[in-house]
Amino acid sequence: MAEVSTSPAKPFKVIVVGGGIAGLAMSHALQLAKIDHVVLEAYGEVCSHVGASIGLWPNGIRVLDQMGAWKQISEHCSPMNHSYNRLPDGRAVSVSRMADMIIERNGYDFVVLEREHVVKGLWDNIPDQSLIKVNQRVNKIDEDANGVTVHTTDGEKYEGDIVVACDGVNSFVRDHMWDMANRFSPGLIPAAEKTSLATTYCCLIGFAPEMAGIGLGDCQTVHNQGFSFLIITQPGRTFFFVFIKLPEVVRWPNRLKFTAEDAEREAAKLAALPVTESLLFGEIWKKKIRGQLIPLEEVVFDHWHHGRTVLLGDSVHKLTINLAFGGNSALESTAAFVNVLNRELKALPAGEKMSQETLSEAFEEYQGLRKPRMKKVLNLAYQLTRLQAWDGWFMKFVQSWVIPWVGDGQVVDHFSELVRAGHRLDFVPVPPHKEGYVPFNDELKDKDGPLYETHKAPSDFGSVIRRLVLPWIAVSSALVAGAAYSLSG
Ligand SMILES: Cc1cc2nc3c(=O)[nH]c(=O)nc-3n(C[C@H](O)[C@H](O)[C@H](O)COP(=O)(O)OP(=O)(O)OC[C@H]3O[C@@H](n4cnc5c(N)ncnc54)[C@H](O)[C@@H]3O)c2cc1C
Repeated sequence: MAEVSTSPAKPFKVIVVGGGIAGLAMSHALQLAKIDHVVLEAYGEVCSHVGASIGLWPNGIRVLDQMGAWKQISEHCSPMNHSYNRLPDGRAVSVSRMADMIIERNGYDFVVLEREHVVKGLWDNIPDQSLIKVNQRVNKIDEDANGVTVHTTDGEKYEGDIVVACDGVNSFVRDHMWDMANRFSPGLIPAAEKTSLATTYCCLIGFAPEMAGIGLGDCQTVHNQGFSFLIITQPGRTFFFVFIKLPEVVRWPNRLKFTAEDAEREAAKLAALPVTESLLFGEIWKKKIRGQLIPLEEVVFDHWHHGRTVLLGDSVHKLTINLAFGGNSALESTAAFVNVLNRELKALPAGEKMSQETLSEAFEEYQGLRKPRMKKVLNLAYQLTRLQAWDGWFMKFVQSWVIPWVGDGQVVDHFSELVRAGHRLDFVPVPPHKEGYVPFNDELKDKDGPLYETHKAPSDFGSVIRRLVLPWIAVSSALVAGAAYSLSG
């Protein structure tokens, strides 16, 4: 590596690669912290190439609210109504009002809307949009003891102190980081960590106009063996997702790419299957405005940084979309990262350059704040995908017999526990919002007060399953034994 420069420090500068949800939120947060930066986006527009729908949870909404974007985004949301669970023949086995239960607990709503409204809301509210450079596909990064130089395909060069990967699941910046680690810290990032980026499911996604025979604001989950439908309606839109288990797991560096013909072929196989008592999936697909087949990668990597490179958003935590938590998590990671960087920069004596040691400590702190939470979220999304698709007898048993018995209240308690631990910007006020009875951990006035204790739910899904399945097995075994005994008598 190059010698450390002794010349007077230039103002600290962040090079952000990728102008998706994470990159736009990063620019806004860095601007609020008055940290110099540039965002490099490969495409020609930040709002043009964005896909179908997105669900926002209170933890993500709170960060958007701090950025002044939630007000605009909320104008495109309409309330969620009923959530149905259905069998393969379309019959409903349960119905609830989960969205209402989330608002009661966490204050902010749970909403589903067209993704481009979220991206546009972020974009429109960025104080200085000139810091986001489009048509800048990054294809080379030089990194040494003094900083980074990031190159783009059209020959531009951007110099800075650190590079932040907001370039999605197939991150170029992550490849660069792994190269640097191989060169300067051999063995640090093992092969097993790289191949932990796995694709077990793919998903038919898209939207059609409003369809007759399906209630507005309703959410339909239809279980099938090895796949599940999720249909969500909003004014003018029927969003659809079909989560399909692949015949075999695909691991990094292999990557799945599907064509329009692949999507048509999968949709044709499912066309005659019902998504309600009266509506077939084929009827929705036939009217689709947009529809495609995408891989659903899953991973939370162990190493989130090396040298002057740090990973964020889908480049380091990628979830299946059943839980609708990936974008919300990108917002949280942005907040956690900028909080740490902001504090370290403000603590630096004027004119002094941040040392590699301080940088590494800051990156490590950010990783420590986010990795355990993201492992928990990944686990929950992983289980939900497999429960909904009846992936194996145990998942089918739990989804069919345990979850209905547990009740929606307990399930939502668990989600609201996850929400309450969300990260937000710690140097920007949270606008006044409705208070739920499960306040965010960092907004709790009295941590030992009765609200907190009354609504403390188990903190991981495995423990929920263990706590609920085991008594269920015990009770049902007792009933079966009792019935056998009385019959034999
Ligand atoms: C169909 C679908 C539905 C989803 N639904 C939900 C949901 O309901 N709720 C939720 O929270 N999350 C949802 N997610 C997940 C969520 O969209 C992602 O977690 C989130 O978008 C991640 O944001 P990101 O900025 O990290 O990555 P991305 O959104 O992938 O953005 C990466 C950006 O980097 C740019 N880029 C890539 N390579 C380069 C390069 N070399 N140089 C410059 N720029 C580059 C890309 O063009 C892109 O703009 C969904 C995802 C999908 C696919």
